[in-house]
Amino acid sequence: GGVQESTVIRPINKSVVHRICAGQVILDLSSAVKELVENSLDAGATSIEIALKEYGLESFQVIDNGSGISPQNFKVLALKHHTSKLLDFPDLQSLTTFGFRGEALSSLCALGDLTVETRTVNEVVATHLTYDRTGLLTAERKTARQVGTTVTVKKLFSNLPVRSKEFHRNIRKEYGKLISLLNAYALIAKGVRLVCTNTSGKNVRSVVLKTQGSGSLKENIVTVFGTSTFSCLEPISLSTSDGSVVEGFVSKSGNGSGRNIGDRQFFFVNGRPVDMPKVGKLVNELYRGANSKQYPIAILNFIVPTRAYDVNVTPDKRKIFFSDESSVFQSLREALGTIYSSNQASYSVNRVD
Ligand code: ADP
Ligand code: MG
Repeated sequence: GGVQESTVIRPINKSVVHRICAGQVILDLSSAVKELVENSLDAGATSIEIALKEYGLESFQVIDNGSGISPQNFKVLALKHHTSKLLDFPDLQSLTTFGFRGEALSSLCALGDLTVETRTVNEVVATHLTYDRTGLLTAERKTARQVGTTVTVKKLFSNLPVRSKEFHRNIRKEYGKLISLLNAYALIAKGVRLVCTNTSGKNVRSVVLKTQGSGSLKENIVTVFGTSTFSCLEPISLSTSDGSVVEGFVSKSGNGSGRNIGDRQFFFVNGRPVDMPKVGKLVNELYRGANSKQYPIAILNFIVPTRAYDVNVTPDKRKIFFSDESSVFQSLREALGTIYSSNQASYSVNRVD
């Protein structure tokens, strides 16, 4: 053992660094599709279609009717840390877009075969663009398309052997996670039509998710979960001393679900789907005081000043740091305490109609 005297510290080859880092931004199928859907939302799309082949193993495609990408950006589109959304560090505090690091397309290039078809209102035809592993534009041709953008990724993880094996082995789980994630956007996005299809086997295309792009959280919940599930929910709306607001729906005390429904608890910060295990735990815990046999559905959007939290915590942007977490939690505790200790019998079952 012992330290080798001849140890030399060298920089890692650039393309190796790129692939290593890309694997942290794009963890799995759902984080890949998440980035593309968020790009479409950032581009102002009102219609987004997610088209999978073999549940995403073969390819996935996100087709939107957003702003499109202008020709001046074709060359830099997939370069690492190239973005149209963030210029300077202080901008991070007033961020209103999902993206800001310019890492998604660059990472997808490193991990799969990326092509883009896009057209803005200023062009009469669209352009089909092909990028290589390093994010360089390698081919460009004209094609027909409406205004908007289609991003296609084929063979994700084919150059990361371990990840690729995991992807194939866990495809059912990955696919389930993706549908749950798309449900999160279907719930929170207002006025955006979402469709997800999968083509499998002998070209059989099935629609796995379809929303109409309604204008309220309530209507979105009805679309995603149905009227009867919605009628078991109680609206919640509270504000905290620091000016934050928590809005959404939780199960009524007598109307939970039998399973520990992690797939029916959705948390958002200013409309951004995030993981909030602590909030999930808190909701479950308070619910248990009123109903020990079931688990609550919870769909909560935390509306907080953009300077009051940090989303730049993990490469996949699913984790959030609040500057004052305890006041948010305290208010939630009080609001849920009120709901779960009041008499539920007075609520009518068919509130939706
Ligand atoms: P980020 O979203 O952090 O800016 P991305 O790598 O996801 O980084 O995207 C890079 C840039 O490509 C974006 O800043 C945006 O200008 C453009 N772009 C990506 N996807 C779309 C899309 N669907 N519609 C319009 N522009 C897009
Ligand atoms: Mg992005």
